[in-house]
Amino acid sequence: MPSPEPSSLHADPGQAPTRKIIHCDCDCFYASVEMRDDPSLRGRPLAIGGSPERRGVIATCNYEARAFGVRSAMSSAQALKRCPALLIMPPRMDKYREVSRRIFGIYREYTALVEPLSLDEAYLDVSGSSRHQGSATRIAEEIRQRVRDEVGVTVSAGVGPNKFIAKIASDWNKPDGLFVVRPGAVDAFVAALPVERIHGVGRVTAGKLRQLGVTTCADLRDWTPDRFHKHFGSFGARLYNLCRGIDERQVSPERERKSISVEETYAEDLPDLNACLDELDPLMQLLDARIERAGARDWVRKLFIKLRFTDFRTTTVECRGHRPQREIYARLLAAGHARRGLPVRLIGLGVGTAEPDTTQGDLFETSPQPDIDDAVAERR
Ligand SMILES: [Mg+2]
Repeated sequence: MPSPEPSSLHADPGQAPTRKIIHCDCDCFYASVEMRDDPSLRGRPLAIGGSPERRGVIATCNYEARAFGVRSAMSSAQALKRCPALLIMPPRMDKYREVSRRIFGIYREYTALVEPLSLDEAYLDVSGSSRHQGSATRIAEEIRQRVRDEVGVTVSAGVGPNKFIAKIASDWNKPDGLFVVRPGAVDAFVAALPVERIHGVGRVTAGKLRQLGVTTCADLRDWTPDRFHKHFGSFGARLYNLCRGIDERQVSPERERKSISVEETYAEDLPDLNACLDELDPLMQLLDARIERAGARDWVRKLFIKLRFTDFRTTTVECRGHRPQREIYARLLAAGHARRGLPVRLIGLGVGTAEPDTTQGDLFETSPQPDIDDAVAERR
């Protein structure tokens, strides 16, 4: 028996329906929280970061500081050179996390498809939302207003049919702005876009492209896939799509991310299990600090331990877990050690996270100073 024809949402059944993606990005998040909590900080150049004496780095700064050329990820010493009146405050991560949770709570009232990129940045897929008759623009406006009224910080938002467009759009009218790129406007919007606006095209690549006569995405559209590949390798295929405004990446609420870990190679092999257990506490302290800096405390899903024995064979033991606990690591260590029972030259301790998509991990791993904070979150 033929079933009734389902009503079609889009004219061409062979084509995927147009998606509605919002990219929300708080304006100078840490600094905004500090100014919210102490209004006397408003109107003066303010940065959150490490102290210049301890080779600290700027995590976030307000717009008054930016006017002096202060930027995220700049050393605090350099920032003070550019702006001697700059007030640098240490970060209060617990407070920022709490504020972040409230903001994300608001996002999740509109869709379950919220993908965090950091404490203050997220993609929302509202394609399935019936709020405001499904108008992503009005949803974005309401979200911005609610975060301002209920939390006390401002959010800039971009609306577009995919992540690439939405993310560029959120930057368009920053701070405290909204920019919408309707599906019909994508082609012209992207065509006029300077290539350095594409995430992954840095100054070096942009310079290289300029020498080839390319300044906008439109200039790239004449290129053949082969030419893209020749100049950009595996990134070429993605560029080929991006310069046409095509980005199929889904908004995924929780993605398995790479791990956060610390490890130590010992000058002399640790002779037995007890000697290994003695090393747990200092390693846990390091790991704890690293998780804290990554803002990943709430994202821990897995604990693991790595052992390299004197014969260079390596073994890894892991288990599910939401908190790095000494007893659990001790158990994993014992289980791993029992596999070979040889002296140990290296111990690694780590957590697996379902973490927002940040590149912070890399920054932290190459940064020995404890002052560095969420720098990349604000860096573009
Ligand atoms: Mg931000």
